[in-house]
Order: sequence, then C-alpha cells, then structure tokens
Amino acid sequence: MTPRPPAPGVGAAADEVARVAAAAPDWAALAVVASSCVACPELAAVRQHVVVGDVPVGRPRLVLVGEAPGAQEDETGRPFVGRSGALLDVLLAEAGLDRAQAAVLNVVKCRPPGNRTPKAPEVARCSGWLRRQLELLDAPVVVALGLSSAKWFLGPRTVLAQVRGRPHDVGGRAVWATYHPSAAIRFGPNGAPRAGLLADLTAVAATL
Ligand code: SF4
Repeated sequence: MTPRPPAPGVGAAADEVARVAAAAPDWAALAVVASSCVACPELAAVRQHVVVGDVPVGRPRLVLVGEAPGAQEDETGRPFVGRSGALLDVLLAEAGLDRAQAAVLNVVKCRPPGNRTPKAPEVARCSGWLRRQLELLDAPVVVALGLSSAKWFLGPRTVLAQVRGRPHDVGGRAVWATYHPSAAIRFGPNGAPRAGLLADLTAVAATL
C-alpha cells in the first residue's frame, strides 16, 4: 500500500497543498488528510474543524460551492448549517432541487476569524483541495454561491451581475454563478438577491 502523504504543515505553499490533495485517491482519503491541514496559520490557530464538505452517496447531480465556513459550520464541521444553510435548503426545495443529491463545499475549508473574506493566499492554498474534490466528484454542474466562489471559477475580474443567469463552460463543467444565501438574508425576503438566487437555482434545476 502506498503510504499516505502527511497533511500540509504550517505555512505550506499552495503547490504543496495541491500536491498532497492530488495524491488523495478518493473522497475519504482526502477528507482525512485535509482535516489535519494547517497550511494557513491564522485560520488553523482558531478553527474548531476543517469543514471538508458534504457529499451524497454516489455521484452528485450538482456541486454547490460557497466561500468559507461560518461560526456554526466551524462548530459542527459541516457546510451551510447556519442561517445561510437553512435559507439555501428552502430555496433549493422551492427550485425543485434536493440537497441530498448535491455535494456542498466551500472555496476555503477553515473559518476566517470574524467571518472576514478569505485572503488571497488562503484561497490559493485551499484551491488544491477544491480542485481535487471537483475531480473526484465529477459532477457535470456546479453552482458558485457568492462572489468569492464565482471569482474562483470565472476569474478575479468577475462581476456577479454580469455572469449570473446562464451557465459557463469551465473545464467541461457547466458553472453557474449566483448570490450567496447570506446576501439574500441581508437584503431581506423581498430583496433582489433572494429572487435572483431562486431564479438561478430554478434555471439550474431545469438543466438536470
Ligand atoms: S483553509 Fe484550506 S489550506 Fe488553509 S489550513 Fe484550512 S484546509 Fe488548509
């Protein structure tokens, strides 16, 4: 048996994280190694869990990718379980999508202190995990929730209003970019982000 590479240590570079992630033969192996990753010193020092992600049994119909864990996600070790997660569940159901058939991930797996936006070096380091996760899951459709996630897939100059509402071919996958549920909460039940998020999820559902 090939020995498992050690998890990336404190301050490990992005290419080192990517090398370790790429060596993971399956989801379970990746989850074990990622859970011990301490490449981002500031995040690793205060997190409770590395929120690796939720996956369904079998190949997911789609992958939802948010920005980073919040407080409840950090506490439980699961993505989208706080207020944003509750709203996401409601909107997925309204759109005719079943969360149980989706994989749910974040660009960055450890909670940034105070829920600040992840820094560029943190996104760069954690990208290796996400890239390997997407390879292993092999889902044909991805929904990027929020601007950080949209930029990860579509580039740093992405403007959400200009890219949402239609799929983008990224490496053979259909990537949809839309609002993060936290924006839908911030602007309220009658705000544009909630309506836009529901419209985009409904459009995604129609393609599956
Ligand atoms: S954010 Fe990602 S790369 Fe940084 S310590 Fe957590 S798992 Fe490792």
